Amino acid sequence: MGEFTTMYKPTIAIIGGGPAALMLACSLDPEKYRVSIYEKNAALGRKFLVAGKGGFNLTHSEDAVQFADRYTPRSFIHRFLEVFSNADFRGWLKRIGIETYVGTSKRVFPVKGTRPIDVLKAIEARLLNNKVSLHYRHEWRGWQEKALLFENEGKRVTLKPDLTVFATGGASWKVTGSDGSWMDFLSGKGVRLNPFFPSNCAYQIGWDKDFINKYAGSALKNAVFHCGTLTRKGEAILTDFGIEGSGVYPLSGAVRKALSEHGSAALVIDLKPDLDHQELRFRLENKGRLSVRAVLEKKLNLTPVQTELLKRHTTKDEYNSPQHLAYAIKNLKLRVSGLAPIDEAISTVGGIAVDELSADLELKKLPGHYAVGEMIDWDAPTGGYLLQACFSMGYALAKHLNAKAPN
Ligand SMILES: Cc1cc2nc3c(=O)[nH]c(=O)nc-3n(C[C@H](O)[C@H](O)[C@H](O)COP(=O)(O)OP(=O)(O)OC[C@H]3O[C@@H](n4cnc5c(N)ncnc54)[C@H](O)[C@@H]3O)c2cc1C
Repeated sequence: MGEFTTMYKPTIAIIGGGPAALMLACSLDPEKYRVSIYEKNAALGRKFLVAGKGGFNLTHSEDAVQFADRYTPRSFIHRFLEVFSNADFRGWLKRIGIETYVGTSKRVFPVKGTRPIDVLKAIEARLLNNKVSLHYRHEWRGWQEKALLFENEGKRVTLKPDLTVFATGGASWKVTGSDGSWMDFLSGKGVRLNPFFPSNCAYQIGWDKDFINKYAGSALKNAVFHCGTLTRKGEAILTDFGIEGSGVYPLSGAVRKALSEHGSAALVIDLKPDLDHQELRFRLENKGRLSVRAVLEKKLNLTPVQTELLKRHTTKDEYNSPQHLAYAIKNLKLRVSGLAPIDEAISTVGGIAVDELSADLELKKLPGHYAVGEMIDWDAPTGGYLLQACFSMGYALAKHLNAKAPN
C-alpha cells in the first residue's frame, strides 16, 4: 500500500455480515480506513442469531493449550487465538455492554436475560461508532473486469475498493444466507477450494423400526463416545434419523474419515464411564435373584433405552455372561452409515484451502483480497469454538491491517 498518500484513507469492502466480518469491522481503525460491509440479506448476523437459539454459547473457558487443541488444523487457528483469546473476547464483550458467565459445562454464555439479538445490537452499535457503512441486499456475484460485482435488488453495482475481505461463511443453514454460492468466483481466479462437508451434525443409524418408534427422543447421558482416535464425554439423543448431540458432534472428523474410507463408521459408547470393567462384572456376577435387566436398571442405574440397546447389540449368551455384558456396557458399538444433509449441519468443513492464504489471511493468488471465518477449511466442535475462531480471525486481520495502514 505504499502508493497511498497521507491524505487518502484506503477503502475496505467486507463481503458478508457474520461474526468474522463484524469483529473485523468493529476493530479496524476508522482513522485509517473507510470500511463498508456488503451483506446479501436485509440484516446482519442471521446465522449468529440462529446459533443463539439453542443456548447462546459464545466461547469456552478452557485454558489456551486445550482450547487450541480443539481445532483442525490446530496451527492455522492457534495464531489467531494468540492474538485474540477467549478471555480477550469476554473482555471485549464486557466493553460493549455484554456480561458473560461460565456455565457448568465451562461454556461461556451471555448473562441471563441477554438475548442473542441484544448481543447483535450491541455489536451493531459498535459498528456505527466505528463509522462502518452498511450495505444490505448486496450479493457479491464475482467480478466485472477488475471491479467487484454486486447484485442489489435486481441492479448491478460495481466497486473497486483498495482492499477486499471475504467473510461469506460456510455452506450449512442456507436460509441464513451462507450458501457457498461464492465458490465458483474464487475458484475461477485459481484459488483452491475443498468441497464442503457437514460437521457437527447428526449421524445416520439404521435403527430397527420398533426400537426407534419407542425410543426416539431418548437421551444417552453422561456417556463417553469414541470414533477412531476421537473421544468425547457428553450426551446424545436418539432420533428417527440416527443420533445427535453435544457428545457426538465433536467426533465428526473421525466419522467423516471412516465413512469416506470404509463406507461406515463405528461409534463406540461407554455407557458407564465411572465404573471399570471389573466392577461392572462383579456387580453382574453378584446379582442374586435379580434378572439381568433388573441389575442393569437397579444396580447400575442404566435407563430403559440403555438396557434395550445392550439387549439388541449382544447375543443371548453374551447378554447372560457378566464378562461379555460388562464389556458391552463399556463398548456398545453402533454402525453409522451416513451424515445428516449439509444444510442441517451446525457447521461445515471445506472451502478455501488454508495454504491458499498467507499468515495474515491474504489470498496468495489475489493480493489485496483476504478471507476470514467459516469459509476457510478448518474444523472445530460446537461449544463456542466456532464463534471464537471467527471472532479471533476478524480481530487478528484488523490488527494486521491497522498496523500496515499508512500513517
Ligand atoms: C444451528 C446452529 C447453531 C450454532 N451454534 C453455535 C454455538 O453454540 N457456538 C458456536 O461457536 N457456533 C455455533 N454455530 C456456528 C456459528 O454460527 C458459525 O460458525 C459462524 O456464524 C460463522 O461465522 P462467519 O462470519 O464465518 O459466517 P456466517 O455467520 O455464515 O456469515 C456469513 C454472511 O455472509 C453472507 N453472504 C454469503 N454469501 C454472500 C454473498 N455472495 N454476498 C454477500 N453476502 C454473502 C451471508 O448472508 C451471511 O450473513 C452454530 C451454527 C448453527 C447453524
